[in-house]
Amino acid sequence: MDSARITAAETLAALGVTQPDQVAPLFAEIRSRFGLESTAIHDEPAWKTFRDAWLGRKSGILAQITDNWLKPAPPDLKRAVGAGLNELRAHVESQIESRRQAIESGAEQSALAREHVDLSLPGVTRPIGSHHLIRQVFQEIEDIFVSIGFSVVEGPEIETPYYNFEALNIPEFHPVRDDMDTFYLELPKGAPTPLLLRTHTSPMQIRTMEKQKPPVRVIVPGKVYRRDNPDATHSFVFHQVEGLAVDSDITFCDFTGTIEYFVKQFFGPGVKTRFRPSYFPFTEPSVEFDVSCIFCGGSGTAAGGGTCSKCKGAGWIELFGAGMVDPAVYGFVNYDAKKVSGFAFGMGIDRLAMLKYQIDDIQVFFQNDVRFLRQFP
Ligand SMILES: [Zn+2]
Repeated sequence: MDSARITAAETLAALGVTQPDQVAPLFAEIRSRFGLESTAIHDEPAWKTFRDAWLGRKSGILAQITDNWLKPAPPDLKRAVGAGLNELRAHVESQIESRRQAIESGAEQSALAREHVDLSLPGVTRPIGSHHLIRQVFQEIEDIFVSIGFSVVEGPEIETPYYNFEALNIPEFHPVRDDMDTFYLELPKGAPTPLLLRTHTSPMQIRTMEKQKPPVRVIVPGKVYRRDNPDATHSFVFHQVEGLAVDSDITFCDFTGTIEYFVKQFFGPGVKTRFRPSYFPFTEPSVEFDVSCIFCGGSGTAAGGGTCSKCKGAGWIELFGAGMVDPAVYGFVNYDAKKVSGFAFGMGIDRLAMLKYQIDDIQVFFQNDVRFLRQFP
């Protein structure tokens, strides 16, 4: 009998088995083949294929033995074939089950091995970030004003036209509204008032005075919005610090002295300041503050000769607008304009940061390029 030819697909007669003592070697051969196949199974998909090949109900090897060996066997072989088949079935079933368990626990062990923590490896270090330059400049400005008695307050970025315009003496027809074109929120029909993104931090002047009787000394840092197209000096979002001081005896000298103190603290004691008459609806008189050019030291001449490009030879750079609070504004907040006086200013933080740190494009503040941000740790 050639063992290579033993197959469950053929009948015993075809395999040349005619005597009961020929049956046991048949099953021994099948069993050793099963053993060999079994050791080659190492994962679940292969195990499933293996199981179906042996125990499959229709064409598994055991089913084939039943159909081809047992059923057509002559009576004198049937008993031996039945006994051999039962023994083989018990062996195959128990081996296939124990193989499954071995594969499962092996998978668990290799998963555990993957999770094993090697305590000798270096830890994961995450670089510590820093404050954005704009945030740093806010902090510098806040420190200077807090040191001379101002408090810091913050307000909503979404405002009503009343606080953003009307209460600041900017009625609807006022031409300055053209410069302060902004973004209006889409609201449901019947909303009581339009809402907009504030164009300056000045609304907090009104909100502060509504809540608080004089004396008032506050600065208001924050984001503001305008419908400006982005370029090197414009952005639809930028930053301001509003300042307001109101008391019973504040003079124009207090005002200019405070601003001069701030400018020298911020840019250094070497700079000079000057102011020029200007116009804002909510201050009277209004001024524009200039600082001596930081780039050419006020000479108007560039380091290598020729005209300083930053101040265009003037020796002065425009800083921000300010003024004595227009008495009309007090009317909106129930202050007695005959008893109180004060000053207000609004500084563009981005502009101050660009001047102090010699940055020539406002867009870099909003691009989050770490190569830029890392220069200001
Ligand atoms: Zn200059």
